[in-house]
Amino acid sequence: ATANIGVVGLAVMGSNLARNLASREGNTVAVFNRSRSKTDELIEAHPEAEFVPAFSYEQFAASLTKPRTAVIMVKAGRPTDAVIDSLIEVFEPGDIIVDGGNALFTDTIRREKAVRETGINFVGAGISGGEEGALNGPSIMPGGSDESWVTLGPILRSIAAVAEGEPCVTHVGHDGAGHFVKMVHNGIEYADMQLIAEAYDLIRRGTGKTPAEIAEVFAEWNRGELESYLIEITAEVLRQTDAATGQPLVDVILDQAGAKGTGAWTVQTALSLGVPVSGIAEATFARSLSSHPEQREVSTGLPGPAEGLQVEDPDAFIEDVRLALYASKIVAYSQGFDEIRAGAAEYDWTIDLGAVSKIWRAGCIIRAQFLNRIADAYDAQPDLPVLLTAPYFVEALGRAQAAWRRIVSTSAHSGIPAPAFSSSLAYYDGLRAERLPAALIQGQRDFFGAHTYKRIDKPGTFHTLWSGDRTEIEAEDTH
Ligand code: NDP
Repeated sequence: ATANIGVVGLAVMGSNLARNLASREGNTVAVFNRSRSKTDELIEAHPEAEFVPAFSYEQFAASLTKPRTAVIMVKAGRPTDAVIDSLIEVFEPGDIIVDGGNALFTDTIRREKAVRETGINFVGAGISGGEEGALNGPSIMPGGSDESWVTLGPILRSIAAVAEGEPCVTHVGHDGAGHFVKMVHNGIEYADMQLIAEAYDLIRRGTGKTPAEIAEVFAEWNRGELESYLIEITAEVLRQTDAATGQPLVDVILDQAGAKGTGAWTVQTALSLGVPVSGIAEATFARSLSSHPEQREVSTGLPGPAEGLQVEDPDAFIEDVRLALYASKIVAYSQGFDEIRAGAAEYDWTIDLGAVSKIWRAGCIIRAQFLNRIADAYDAQPDLPVLLTAPYFVEALGRAQAAWRRIVSTSAHSGIPAPAFSSSLAYYDGLRAERLPAALIQGQRDFFGAHTYKRIDKPGTFHTLWSGDRTEIEAEDTH
């Protein structure tokens, strides 16, 4: 046995992760793939790397020093279960199985529990950054036991992206915590992308600028408080000309957004936790809406406003859009961290929210300057109940809100869909409100279902005898 770490699954993510591991001082990497061809290809293409190829699970286990540590990078779902079952056969108590795929966190909780019974450690680790990140340094979100972190920590630190001298990996929490946080990361990514898309659409329709000209706007924004990978690549995409037609590439791409499901998981989980991640939900639904051509075709004739968007001062309008984007982005991140906070409470994880924001500063898709501000907020107040109430964000929202309101009303007035901008503003105003019409909803619930209500002026639970004489009685608390 000569390898200190192994990788199972050598498609694009696994082979890049294996190369990343092999490129770090002190690592010898055992590699295994179900079909032999991928292993052969990897070994052949990278003679410089210290790989130990294995062609059976037995061989793979034999090539690893103890405690054996293996990262699985295969298709999420049943393939992951199949590989775990095979590894359990050949591993021993104390060994560590890491699932680096995009597993649903509840699967990770289930697997961790099952594998733990064998004495083997199971770690679900979210890995972000796509192919490029896997090769050069991803942001890594591992869960699992403290014991496995002792062995795994130094290895993962050696391959993670580095932000301001700090590796982008932290032991997020036990069992499924890492995959939970990775899921929310992806949800935030959906929201961020949708907000950027709405900003682009408004600028294009409002100013008539070409995609290449709008690319310059984004490039400029990328030098300020919006600096981020997603803003940067937006400029790149908008600048691209289609070789076949000479048109801007964005104009020849079919406008139907795909999704692999992590946005939907984030929203489904938020719904069951009762966390309002409206920005992420709108972003996910906007992709769904775009992907129903049969519905869009029959709807293009629906009546719209008499007047389209008329912008008098393009520069001022663009600045308004920038501020609306910034404010909505603050809301989306605040909602995402709220979901992590609620998930931690529900599943009994101790998650350091500041540490999570720090490991997203490099290697992952939502990497941004902005995450330093989130880290500052949680440093100052680790149990901050609402991220956007941190002083820095209050100031930013105060600066942005007038522009944000103008953009939301302008888009509604001129019939331009801006679901993430507008729902984020509605969330913000909902949070701010001293009283909400939820009181009326409680009244309605009490009317049709005797669900009872509480009063603002005295403790207890009450019910009005709606079908009787409409007097109020003190009731059992039945919700
Ligand atoms: P794929 O998701 O395309 O999976 C292909 C790999 O899974 C191959 O190695 C394949 O082996 C193996 N596999 C499939 N079924 C089985 C099985 N029943 N038993 C054993 N092995 C099996 O690979 P990717 O590299 O794209 O992704 C790997 C993981 O990383 C996935 O969970 C993905 O969600 C996640 N991920 C991907 C990112 C990306 O940008 N692509 C980003 C972050 C995470 P074989 O060669 O024999 O078919």
